[in-house]
Amino acid sequence: MDKPPAHAWQHFIANRPTPATASESLDVIDPSSGECFAYIARGRAADIDLAVRAARQAFDGDRGQPAGGVWGKTPALERGRILMRLAAAADAHRDELAALESRDTGKPLKQAQADAVALARYFEFYAGACDKLHGQTLPYQNGYTVLTIREAHGVTGHIIPWNYPMQIFGRSVGAALAAGNACVVKPAEDACLSLLRFAELAAAAGLPDGALNLVTGLGAEAGQALAEHPGIDHISFTGSPETGRRVAQAAAAHYCPVTLELGGKSPQLVFDDADLEAALPVLIAAIIQNAGQTCSAGSRVLVQETIAERLTERLAQGFAALRAGPAGDDLDLGPLVSRKQLTRVGTYVQQAKQSGLRVAAQGQIVAHAPIGGFYQAPVLLANVPPEHPVACEEIFGPVLAVSHFRDEVHALAIANGTPYGLVAGVWTRDGARQMRLARKLRAGQVFVNNYGAGGGVELPFGGVGQSGYGREKGFEALYGFTALKTVALRHD
Ligand code: NDP
Repeated sequence: MDKPPAHAWQHFIANRPTPATASESLDVIDPSSGECFAYIARGRAADIDLAVRAARQAFDGDRGQPAGGVWGKTPALERGRILMRLAAAADAHRDELAALESRDTGKPLKQAQADAVALARYFEFYAGACDKLHGQTLPYQNGYTVLTIREAHGVTGHIIPWNYPMQIFGRSVGAALAAGNACVVKPAEDACLSLLRFAELAAAAGLPDGALNLVTGLGAEAGQALAEHPGIDHISFTGSPETGRRVAQAAAAHYCPVTLELGGKSPQLVFDDADLEAALPVLIAAIIQNAGQTCSAGSRVLVQETIAERLTERLAQGFAALRAGPAGDDLDLGPLVSRKQLTRVGTYVQQAKQSGLRVAAQGQIVAHAPIGGFYQAPVLLANVPPEHPVACEEIFGPVLAVSHFRDEVHALAIANGTPYGLVAGVWTRDGARQMRLARKLRAGQVFVNNYGAGGGVELPFGGVGQSGYGREKGFEALYGFTALKTVALRHD
């Protein structure tokens, strides 16, 4: 029997599916099989321009008055009600959204379902925040009243990576809409479908035309055009340091503020007084979740030498039991997102083996996994010198490097010894050490006796150094999506 024709998705601009201006498309590949199962529109600068105009119209309206458009003048209370309906729509359609994202990215269904739940939760959180975002009154000279007002930037751009499309869209677009901005989104070419479907649901839930616009395509074309567009008032980007720098440079040409979340090489420090039974499953999950394709993956375990052998042995038992297979099988991990990513991770594993590092354990790829899929078995590397590339560069795959330290000072030097600084974990029962390390670790988030891989919706998240700047998530994100205006009134 013939297969049904693959679905061709279009951009979603001003609440309507919109064809690519150049009528070009890109294949959508199923990472579990390597086969094309759908198409997306290949957007270029003209498509981005169309989306920016739609967003500008929603924000400023026909007369071009700041915040004079339908979305721009929607009161905070009403914005909150609309966002709550978007949260409800995401929740009601979570199985459908999860199935799309699982097929599109290769992530196991249960992971995609958790991501759909998080998408709903981001919109719920930011819906509740809309009418609680306010300025202050400031003491000043006699005869004056001075106040601050938090105003939306206007039109915000959002460049979303392929690892957690729903979650990263939720944290970024949810906050930007809550602050009153109209959004233009460029999802990664490898992971668009759940977001295109969510945009349809948002339109049906009553989000006004132009408040949310999605343009699909290649990063170097549509993404670059979005960063360069003079009509964009703020950009939020999540991805690699190299592309982040390119985006920030393009934005700087039109004085556009940028939030960058650029991944990391996040360490988990395990001291000899730690509760190993509590730590072990968390150490494994922190690198295996989403096949290690997580900006905040716990990709380095630093262990005190007195317990290094014992911990490595226990980790090895865990790794040997891990299974990778097709997304629909819902195993410990699915395939990687693309052949490009598989090659990148495979190159690091080769390099580790060639330089004589010990592979303490390797998980399995199930026998029935299609030959064309992008599967990488999880790899545990033992006693890795901290300066080895696998211990200080972001691999973005299921590869865990275990390094040894002597004492707290040595542990801190290794932990802070990469250019990154996103998340860190500390495992110890010593309360003073917990606090000392929480203060001294160079990271945007520190977890003590737990590890959250980015943590919950409520927790501000972002990095230092090569991990980027600006904060997303929590209430803090709303400050990034607004500009503060000071008004000084003289009345005496
Ligand atoms: P990129 O940084 O190139 O991609 C991230 C996003 O940026 C995607 O939406 C991409 O679109 C877009 N993009 C690419 N080029 C440009 C450009 N010139 N202007 C504007 N936007 C652009 O990462 P890769 O996908 O190439 O992955 C490489 C590595 O980056 C990974 O192995 C990982 O280490 C890191 N990474 C980190 C992430 C994180 O969560 N911090 C997420 C993803 C990757 P498109 O995909 O369509 O090209």
